[in-house]
Amino acid sequence: MAVVQEKPLLCKDFLARPKQLLIDGKFVDAETGNMFETRNPATDEVLCQVQEGGKADIDKAVKAARKAFEHGKWRKITATQRANMMLKLADLVEKNADEFAQLETLDNGKPIKESRYFDIPAVVETFRYYAGWCTKLEGETISNNPDFFTYTLREPIGVVGQIIPWNFPLLMAAWKLGPALACGNTLILKPAEQTPLSALRLGELVLEAGFPEGVVNIVTGFGANSAGEALSNHMDVDKIAFTGEDKTGREIVKASAGNLKRVSLELGGKAPNIVFADADIDAAVKGAIMGIFFNQGQVCCAGSRLFLDKKIHDEFMSKLTERVSKMRQGNGMDESTQIGPQVSREQQERVLKYIGIAKGEGAAVACGGDAPAGDLAKGYFVKPTIFTGVHNDMRIAQEEVFGPVLSVIPFEGVDDVADQANKIAFGLSGAVWTSDVKKAHKLAARIKAGTVWVNTFNMLDVAVPFGGYKMSGYGRELGKHSIDLYTNIKSVWVNLQD
Ligand code: NAP
Ligand code: MG
Repeated sequence: MAVVQEKPLLCKDFLARPKQLLIDGKFVDAETGNMFETRNPATDEVLCQVQEGGKADIDKAVKAARKAFEHGKWRKITATQRANMMLKLADLVEKNADEFAQLETLDNGKPIKESRYFDIPAVVETFRYYAGWCTKLEGETISNNPDFFTYTLREPIGVVGQIIPWNFPLLMAAWKLGPALACGNTLILKPAEQTPLSALRLGELVLEAGFPEGVVNIVTGFGANSAGEALSNHMDVDKIAFTGEDKTGREIVKASAGNLKRVSLELGGKAPNIVFADADIDAAVKGAIMGIFFNQGQVCCAGSRLFLDKKIHDEFMSKLTERVSKMRQGNGMDESTQIGPQVSREQQERVLKYIGIAKGEGAAVACGGDAPAGDLAKGYFVKPTIFTGVHNDMRIAQEEVFGPVLSVIPFEGVDDVADQANKIAFGLSGAVWTSDVKKAHKLAARIKAGTVWVNTFNMLDVAVPFGGYKMSGYGRELGKHSIDLYTNIKSVWVNLQD
């Protein structure tokens, strides 16, 4: 395959360095004595070996985070000093943005243009936004009773465990670190086993930015029966913030029961993307493509159920399939690639299994429907796939595939589509395409999801809350709402009676 790589490999030095755990301000080997490999999804080649943290490493990291929280410099510095460290971290990521973009593409597979122009700038913005929050955390005074002076303090929660998935590796880390640090917590981050690299590079910059030892700890390794589980059931961890599958979310909730630690969950989705006949069809076609094929469909808020008004079904489908069949699939490092490989062989197999299930259920393949042959066969590719003739109760319409697979479901009228859209266990996002303002607002209110887009898709902003209804999780990340996830409110009563 001809890979057009315009820039030199900026992450070469990092790839050659040992990949250790960041614990108590130092990079150290894992107590397990084990390493695991991380691969390039476009080629199946091993990129490097990474230390495999286990329970003993989590214990060490929690001790370091506890010490830093209770007795370290971190608690004594001012909010402005905290903000300055976060701003410095943002500057350092920005300075190394091209290196981060390459690392993200090599480890995850996503097109370099997406890493460079979406993921990494969003990381920088997230750190800058939350740096601003350091100096804006306030309590309140409540003067209901003249005999008492009553006020509240907004305090950090303490030691926070953060477990993240592989789809936006560095951005998910930033969504977790940003608010946790702004509020003065200390933390242990467990990146996904498939994509540990950008978090470890970030760890180097955390030290360079001057965060005191033990404030940010990064333990790479596995989830179940390993580092992730040890973190979520740890009795000295005060909160777990988790992003991943709903199945894992349930395990996290169970594991949290020991010390009843706080839990916030960002889980999966199966978003309805609804197109009415009065919509701008060309814009909706582009929105549908971006909604399902961005990041190879590995997006929790992906528009995986496309509801088409029967009146425009055929016209829409012919425009959609024409565009999708021209999408350039290839190695993410190639500047011209529009759709890359899935993150892992396991994920590729999962997506292909769901394609088989959909065919078995009687859905018709409008395009794609298998893995590409030829040069791409080495990697974990799945062709962008669209199914028509889908019923909302089929497994392909109800279960999260987390890949480039779109289910097209026809509808007739607002009530029909609102009912079908909400007949789903998830509720992360949804979208409506129409030129009728009333219809747009009515459906925005009726869709049971944490985000609804009108005449757009996948819009995110660090200041706008993001999170789920139903099985898509609880708690809101981003914006001011994530401050609630990382602080406790304390009420103080002072007796003024003589
Ligand atoms: P996952 O299997 O749930 O893994 C997520 C993280 O949890 C990984 O770090 C994983 O470690 C760890 N983990 C697995 N089992 C664990 C356990 N028993 N205890 C503690 N930690 C455990 O999810 P994924 O396959 O990486 O990611 C895809 C899923 O994430 C999709 O369902 C997607 O919808 C969801 N997602 C949601 C959002 C959102 O904001 N709502 C964003 C992105 C992704 P290992 O990697 O080592 O297994
Ligand atoms: Mg996983």
